[in-house]
Amino acid sequence: MFQVSCAACNASFEYNVDDYIHLCPFCSSGFILDLEEGAKDIIGDHFIVPNRMDREQVEGIFYDWITNRYHRPDKVKNEFQILGSYGISLPYWVISVEAHTFWSGHSQKANHYRGQGNEYGARFLKEENRFSRRYRWSVLARKSPKEHWGLERLHHPKEDVLVDWDGFPLDETLGIVKGAGSASVYDARQMFKFDHANGLTISGVQVKESSAISRAKDQIQEYHRRIAKTKVGTLYEHRTEIEIVGIHLVHLPFWVVRYSFAPKSAFRFLTTARERRLLVQGHSLAVLEAELPLSSADKVMTNLVVCGSLAVLSLGLALFVHPLFFLVTIVFSGVCVLSAWKIFGREKSDSDVGRGADLQEPAA
Ligand SMILES: [Zn+2]
Repeated sequence: MFQVSCAACNASFEYNVDDYIHLCPFCSSGFILDLEEGAKDIIGDHFIVPNRMDREQVEGIFYDWITNRYHRPDKVKNEFQILGSYGISLPYWVISVEAHTFWSGHSQKANHYRGQGNEYGARFLKEENRFSRRYRWSVLARKSPKEHWGLERLHHPKEDVLVDWDGFPLDETLGIVKGAGSASVYDARQMFKFDHANGLTISGVQVKESSAISRAKDQIQEYHRRIAKTKVGTLYEHRTEIEIVGIHLVHLPFWVVRYSFAPKSAFRFLTTARERRLLVQGHSLAVLEAELPLSSADKVMTNLVVCGSLAVLSLGLALFVHPLFFLVTIVFSGVCVLSAWKIFGREKSDSDVGRGADLQEPAA
């Protein structure tokens, strides 16, 4: 094991070779160690948002959440079971940015009057515009966003755009702190101290600021390109200038809950009974990500089984009673094919998980 002495209080402790910033367990200082020179560089802006939950509260949040969604609230305690839960305080690089986007493109005209000319292009309208946004864009300072369930796509954009990145605007994503006006999770930050984790494990910092910044820039570029695309028929050009206003490190608390669903009705033969999960914010207590007990795939599966049986039945009738039943067979088979296609082509998601405050006002 490797020992290092703290750059602030001189106490020595074991350090993890994968960490970029070493956190002293005695005085909570963070510093970067240059292994070749032996130099230590203390970092200044390191905050932590205190964890406010314990296992019992997490359980309460889970049962509230599932009771509001399950069609038989009275059966919830019978059919759902918590398998386990844990909390973890994860490091994020929080990057304050202003992003300015210019875009241009063509849209089809809504009305095209007779006599307006019919030459190619006359039906289209050239459009261009710009928009600006401010974010506290957060990038996980761990090498893998797959380390804990649910961290990969926390960003739920307001616009109808598809998101496939792990960074997110902190204020809108992590929920509003109840009982504190409409304060965001970020507003609850304090100077980093191990004590504020309130019992959670503190996860080490593995990622450098520079790589967090370049990832945030890529993600915002892509996000703004997709927003611009929603505004115009064909997007020709877009430019996003990203201004980095500041960067600091914030440890944020999360809880992962594992639960099982075992329906007592005949429906149990149609669901694939497996473990499902929930990601809860440890300060705002908002449910950020969730696997629903009944995915849409399960519902479509029911459809598939029912229509499949009817198809077989009508085939029998067609062969032995009247050939017209073939038509019915074709209809039910069609529904079966569509159902199967839906099951394999879709992903389940919960559309209204808890969300929070918004920092999307245009930058000055
Ligand atoms: Zn120390």
